[in-house]
Amino acid sequence: MAVDSRSLDTLAIHAGQEPDPSHAAVMQPIVLSSTFAQAEPGVPKRFEYSRSGNPTREALEACLAALEGGRHGFAFGSGSAATLTLLHTLRPGDHVISGDDVYGGTFRLFDKVLKPMGVETTFVDMREVTRVEQAITAKTRLVWMETPTNPLLKLFDIRKIAAIAKGKGLPLVVDNTFASPMLQRPLELGATVVMHSTTKYINGHSDVVGGALVTSDETLAERIRFLQNAIGAVPSPMDCYLVLRGLKTLPVRMRQHVKSASDLAARLAGAKGVRVVHYPGLPSHPDHALCQAQMAGAGGMISLELDGGIEPSRRFLSALRIFTLAESLGGVESLAEHPAIMTHASIPPEVRRRVGISDSLVRLSVGLEDVEDLWNDLERALASVR
Ligand SMILES: *Cc1c(COP(=O)(O)O)cnc(C)c1O
Repeated sequence: MAVDSRSLDTLAIHAGQEPDPSHAAVMQPIVLSSTFAQAEPGVPKRFEYSRSGNPTREALEACLAALEGGRHGFAFGSGSAATLTLLHTLRPGDHVISGDDVYGGTFRLFDKVLKPMGVETTFVDMREVTRVEQAITAKTRLVWMETPTNPLLKLFDIRKIAAIAKGKGLPLVVDNTFASPMLQRPLELGATVVMHSTTKYINGHSDVVGGALVTSDETLAERIRFLQNAIGAVPSPMDCYLVLRGLKTLPVRMRQHVKSASDLAARLAGAKGVRVVHYPGLPSHPDHALCQAQMAGAGGMISLELDGGIEPSRRFLSALRIFTLAESLGGVESLAEHPAIMTHASIPPEVRRRVGISDSLVRLSVGLEDVEDLWNDLERALASVR
């Protein structure tokens, strides 16, 4: 149920951003003030204090909510802050079911922060949806999933898992960071909450760390609003402005990310020295059919395994020149990284092996540079390994 029926291309530029009433500024003003004057005690005009609410943040929250087709948006100082704020809806003794191939920092929150506070998490490969059903106990309070997964780019069926969660009265949270609302809209498929690391595609320029939650569930929205203010992990107005600015080109950027990544994935799949390419847009990908049903494009992320062990992938990564060796993803610039050494190092080796993150796995975030230049870079780095 879209709250605003205009197309996503239009919403990305206009939602939540009417010309400002005081000066008619066309672009959203950056309101840095931490506090707001009251006409009489306890009667604020609109805002009181910038932790509780801020005009620039409110514009961003409205825009994100519109893009995800949700009624309420909440911005945070990072994706992890958004996640932990949401997880504070839980209490000691509660149980969570999570996908088994989640962002390393999300796994760490479940394993090292929630667990000592008495909240247990069961990690399941949600490709088999009956496993989600089997993992539900009397104490389960939340189902958490990420699709496409990171770094293996497995897909989970949001509609089916949402139906199972709904049948048990459990909220389903979908981390939509890898797809962005341009390619996947979890609320329309039955999810209760969408979570984002806006650090990635949403901002898209690798110059902000931020996060967001979007929901149409009134009770949950009220609780999240309370927790956002009580915990205070909120973004600065400057960062909100930058994310709003990045959002305006999200539709255009995503179209190009998908186009270039599809092209490179197909070429990599036939390249010498490459054992396997994980890209849901490839017909050879086990979740290709689900990708076509659930997503409006397979995304800008590719992971691949090279022949040999850790050494060839180290050499490959060191040889890249346009792809920068760095963590993170979703920016205009292409990045490459080694999950086992970098982003997923906080996941114990035996867990990594179980979910299939091998030591030769390399992850690419395909940026907006010329696709032939990107291919030449990859081809040269592959040749240097042989
Ligand atoms: C980066 C990321 C996060 C965490 O977000 P931060 O902004 O780094 O705190 C969560 N989920 C996914 C899929 C991510 O890529």
